[in-house]
Amino acid sequence: MIVGGGVVGCYLGSKIQDQEIWEAKNQMHEKTCSALFSRNIAKFGIPVEESCLNEVYGARFFSDNESFEVRQRTVQAHVCDRLEFQRSVEKMATDNGCKITYGKRWNDEQDDYIMGCDGAISGVMKSMNMTRKFIYTYQVEAQLKSDPDFVQLHFGGFAPGFFAWIIPMNENEAKIGLGIQQGTGNPKARFDEFVAKRNINLSGVSKIQSALIPVYDKKPVTLDNKALCGDAAAQVKNTTGGGILFGCAAADILKEAVDKQDLTYYETRHRKELIPKLNDHDLVSKILQRADYDRLFKAVRERHVDELISEHGDMENLSGLKKQFFKRPLTMLAMARAMI
Ligand SMILES: Cc1cc2nc3c(=O)[nH]c(=O)nc-3n(C[C@H](O)[C@H](O)[C@H](O)COP(=O)(O)OP(=O)(O)OC[C@H]3O[C@@H](n4cnc5c(N)ncnc54)[C@H](O)[C@@H]3O)c2cc1C
Repeated sequence: MIVGGGVVGCYLGSKIQDQEIWEAKNQMHEKTCSALFSRNIAKFGIPVEESCLNEVYGARFFSDNESFEVRQRTVQAHVCDRLEFQRSVEKMATDNGCKITYGKRWNDEQDDYIMGCDGAISGVMKSMNMTRKFIYTYQVEAQLKSDPDFVQLHFGGFAPGFFAWIIPMNENEAKIGLGIQQGTGNPKARFDEFVAKRNINLSGVSKIQSALIPVYDKKPVTLDNKALCGDAAAQVKNTTGGGILFGCAAADILKEAVDKQDLTYYETRHRKELIPKLNDHDLVSKILQRADYDRLFKAVRERHVDELISEHGDMENLSGLKKQFFKRPLTMLAMARAMI
């Protein structure tokens, strides 16, 4: 049985035939999410043509007094309509013979396998005696003129432990949001601080949303006949909070484990293949949390790290970039100095 009919639960249902999917909400709903998916989404066969609102080529990073840009010549990511995207993945699950029952909340019922895809505040995870930490977020859609080719990431005191973002849906409208570490205030108040500090003139504000992002924490993803997948397993990039591609990658492995009737296969391959990549994101996020952003971003420009990221960056897999850093010890040293 699959618990949770979000994107990851439905994607898993598109891989394992004829599953029961229990979804607590009464109907298909839009999850709070920026729905920015890197080009790596193509690997999972989820169609984005129907839901794609915009395509971006790079990102601009801002601190209080510095900025840098990374860009490529080809499309790097799709900005999607989250509800349409959900609809596409649900169709993949039902086309594979799955039955989604809305308004059905899992409450410790038993089955051969309990596949917990029930999101950040997962009941299946709690039944496995686990707890997590969270990033608290606040996001709106609004009219805002911005370069549609670039997402913007803003770092500063307004977003302790995380950042604020502007994700263009077109040149006149954007998703604007912010995340903060648990225990560092109210995300709406922090959002207002961000908007004021960066002189952002929002109008026509709609779709005000707030939600939790689980912090990836290296905890196990299985216990007895239970397996966690997606946000329930905190398979999330700690750099950005993005969880859909890692959740789908985990679902691919979980499908194989179910075929083999062996959940330890899921745990082992998860450790071997996904954890090293999630660890890289965790390391970068820890570095960013301690950084003086002005000094760091200045060093990024002066040492041409922006060019390195443009050439070798991948939104999911940081290993290529890591190798380039190891080939340049002086650059590494300069970056380390900028952070002390
Ligand atoms: C502000 C914000 C911006 C984000 N932006 C991005 C982004 O740009 N790109 C990206 O990749 N990721 C992004 N994410 C993360 C992304 O939204 C999640 O990783 C993703 O939605 C996780 O999918 P999921 O299916 O695991 O969980 P969910 O989407 O949370 O789905 C879980 C489902 O389980 C149901 N459920 C819960 N409990 C039960 C129960 N007991 N019984 C039955 N059903 C239950 C819920 O109703 C829900 O439908 C963002 C998150 C936030 C908060």
